[in-house]
Amino acid sequence: MSAIDTLPPLRAVIASHQLSARKSLGQNFLLDLNLTAKIARQAGDLTECDVLEIGPGPGGLTRGLLAEGARRVVALEKDTRCIPALEEISAAYPGRLEIVQGDALEIDPLTYLNAPIRIAANLPYNVGTELLVRWLTPPDWPPFWQSLTLMFQREVAERIVAQPGSKAYGRLAILSQWRTDARIVLSLPPEAFTPPPKVSSAVVHLTALAEPRYPADAQVLSRVVAAAFNQRRKMLRAALKGVTPDIEDRLRAAGIQPTERAEQVSLEAFCALARELAR
Ligand code: SAM
Repeated sequence: MSAIDTLPPLRAVIASHQLSARKSLGQNFLLDLNLTAKIARQAGDLTECDVLEIGPGPGGLTRGLLAEGARRVVALEKDTRCIPALEEISAAYPGRLEIVQGDALEIDPLTYLNAPIRIAANLPYNVGTELLVRWLTPPDWPPFWQSLTLMFQREVAERIVAQPGSKAYGRLAILSQWRTDARIVLSLPPEAFTPPPKVSSAVVHLTALAEPRYPADAQVLSRVVAAAFNQRRKMLRAALKGVTPDIEDRLRAAGIQPTERAEQVSLEAFCALARELAR
C-alpha cells in the first residue's frame, strides 16, 4: 500500500478539520486526487527536485506532488486551519513535506529549499499574478526556479501565452515569453473545484530559459512595455512620447513604425526598441 492510500479522502479531511472554504483567502479546493496527480505530472520530473507549493490548502495538490515522486515539497500556507491536515500528509511521507505557515507575499521561501527547485500552485487570482510577476523579474537571470506550474483563471492564462494582434497580448505576455517557454497545459471547468468559482481555469507551465530569448536590459524593457500598453489604443509615437523626445527616430531604428500600436509589436521588436533606448 502506498503512503497516499493511508490518507483519508479529501472530503473527509475537510470535514474533520472543519475547513469550510473562505472567500477572503480565495479558497476553491481541488478534491479529485486523479486531477491533482495530473496537474503534478505537468510540473515535469520531480524526483530530483524540491518543489515549492504555495497555498496547499487541505493538500490535494501536495499529495499529487508527493505521489509523483517529488524529492521534497515545501508547502507555504496562510490559513492556520489547514496546518493539522497538512501535518497528516507529512506523517505519511516522512522527511519529504515541510509545512510553512505564513503569507507567500511576505515570506522568503529560499531558506527552506535546495536546488534544483520547481514551483507549483493553485492560488487565488490576485496573489498568483503578483507572485508570477515577482518570479519573472528577479534581479538576476536564470532565476532560483526551473519551472512554474500554476493555476490561473482561463483569461489570465491566455494573457500569459498571448501572441501579438490579440486583445490578450500585453505586459504579462512579454514578461513571460521573454525569459520562459510558457504553455497552457490543462483547462479546468468551474465544477473541478469545491466550491466552484464563477469562471473556468487553466494550468500554465513556464520553463525558465537559460538566457533571455532576445537581448535587452530588463528594466528598460519593462519600462517601455508598461508605457506602451498603458495606452494601448494610441499609436506608439504618442504612447511613448514621454520616454524620449526623439521616440519616432528610435522606433524606426528598432524597425517599428511609429504609427503602430503596442498590440501589434512582437516581443523581438520590443527588445530591439529596449536596446535602442539603452544605447
Ligand atoms: N492548493 C489547494 C487545492 O488545490 O485544493 C488550495 C487552493 S485554494 C484556490 C488557494 C489556497 O491558497 C488556499 O489554501 C488559501 O488559504 C491559500 N492562500 C491564499 N492566499 C495566500 C497567501 N498570500 N499565501 C499563502 N497561501 C495563501
